[in-house]
Amino acid sequence: MDINDNNRSDLPVIVIDKNYNIVDTNKRAEEVYGNIKGNKCYKIMNYYSSPCFKETSYVCPINVVKQSGNSQYTGLYSFGRVKSKYVLVTVEKKGDLYVQKHRILSEDKLDIPDFKKILDFLTEGIVVLNEEGKIRFLNRQFVSIFSINGEPDQFIDRDMSFLTENMPKEIRDIFNKSESIKADKEYPIHYNNSYLIIKKITLDNKYTLWSFFERKETDLSDEIFRVLLETTPVGIFLQCGGRFMYVNPTFASILETFPGNLIGSSIYNFVHPEDKEKVEEVVKKREEGRKSTEKYVIRIKTEKNNIKWVEITSESIFFKGENCGIGSVVDVTERKRLEENLRRLATVDQLTGIYNRYSFEKFLEKEIERAERYGENFALIMFDIDNFKQINDIYGHQVGDKVLKEVVDVVKNHIRKSDIFARWGGEEFMILVPIKDKSDAYKIAEKIRKKIEKFKFDKVGRLTVSLGISFYKNGDSMKSIIRRADTALYEAKKTGKNRTVVAD
Ligand code: GH3
Ligand code: MG
Ligand code: MG
Repeated sequence: MDINDNNRSDLPVIVIDKNYNIVDTNKRAEEVYGNIKGNKCYKIMNYYSSPCFKETSYVCPINVVKQSGNSQYTGLYSFGRVKSKYVLVTVEKKGDLYVQKHRILSEDKLDIPDFKKILDFLTEGIVVLNEEGKIRFLNRQFVSIFSINGEPDQFIDRDMSFLTENMPKEIRDIFNKSESIKADKEYPIHYNNSYLIIKKITLDNKYTLWSFFERKETDLSDEIFRVLLETTPVGIFLQCGGRFMYVNPTFASILETFPGNLIGSSIYNFVHPEDKEKVEEVVKKREEGRKSTEKYVIRIKTEKNNIKWVEITSESIFFKGENCGIGSVVDVTERKRLEENLRRLATVDQLTGIYNRYSFEKFLEKEIERAERYGENFALIMFDIDNFKQINDIYGHQVGDKVLKEVVDVVKNHIRKSDIFARWGGEEFMILVPIKDKSDAYKIAEKIRKKIEKFKFDKVGRLTVSLGISFYKNGDSMKSIIRRADTALYEAKKTGKNRTVVAD
């Protein structure tokens, strides 16, 4: 039976493009709906109490065709404006277009055999119950969805519970709570590895029509998968043999380009040379099909030649006969920058920008180790500004701070790259100096002392420093070598300041 052959000119016919736009209508459609060309088709479906409120609705006829891969679908919708009518909507895919035919039926036809045939023709399972919950009608599709043995007609006048007895709890619940189920609302439930979209339609308060629309889970997950890939803020890629097979829009935007520019191109075009080895290692694992979730942070070079840090999480995947890698990419450039700042905060003195006490101790620890192991020599020069309290007292704390910065600048200009210069605390400083000869350290200390002595400090004018030197001795600990420098410095202060004293 082809329901569309009956009264063909009597049926509203609506032609819709793949973007849901109505591109053409026949005369009958115009009589029923008015001038609807250019409208969206789901707006027309709103005339029915069907849930086609927006493009994404499950049971919007075009979506059913799009998602099922079938070229045709027929669904039953009740008429939202005039409750006593309902309508069969058939949609057929023709090339890029969808042709919808609406067959408006009146409710009193419910019992006529022709109408039963129509219901049998539907893609949905249908059961119609009367006020007492007795079955008035059951279509073939219903019997098939629930694998019920027997012909649909043999269940007429039976209690619905007779059928639901063997159904899963979720479905029994729907019928048990029938009163609280909203008419025309979609209730998706998980059933038999697929989804059943359940809808209740009330017919003039006399009958209740239940429709069960089966959606294979794969359809739904394909859809979820597609929407997630296109909208996630995480970059997603698939690479086989080091070439991009798929990238999502976010991935392309991290690389400051478009997906089309990336497909087929080598992933190494975008890997920072210094991180190439790491990526090669992972690609090799993927080619061997080794299952291992790899998480690593590398630098990439974008299409616009910007360097970014990205965190990649990847896994092996077998795709179209090849061992490939699939992964997610998050831009962590900002996080790296913050981390770097935090590290600087932790290691660097905020006022002067040289190392703080904490990092100086780390350097000293390492240097002692090296001295023990390789017999390398080094000296500690500790110095303290003379009469610094007075500067604060006379000129104020801010000028005091400025002096500290100036002292640091003077000293920085007269030490070597290999020397470690740190603020030990207050106006005390340390310099770790690798030396060949003990006189090297003394020369450096004296040079610093003289440079400071000659320097004209802003507002303050002249000032001096006192210095103490200690040399690494076998068996020295951090504490012992510092203590000797400190004692030498104290000695310099005691014996007139503006002096260098070498510890014995
Ligand atoms: P001495 O010649 O014996 O070293 O005398 P001094 O006046 O320098 O005495 P001391 O080293 O004990 O005093 C250090 C002073 O430095 C005390 C403190 O107020 C000041 N000071 C410590 N840290 C800072 C700082 O970050 N900024 C400023 N402006 N002053 C500081
Ligand atoms: Mg001082
Ligand atoms: Mg001091």
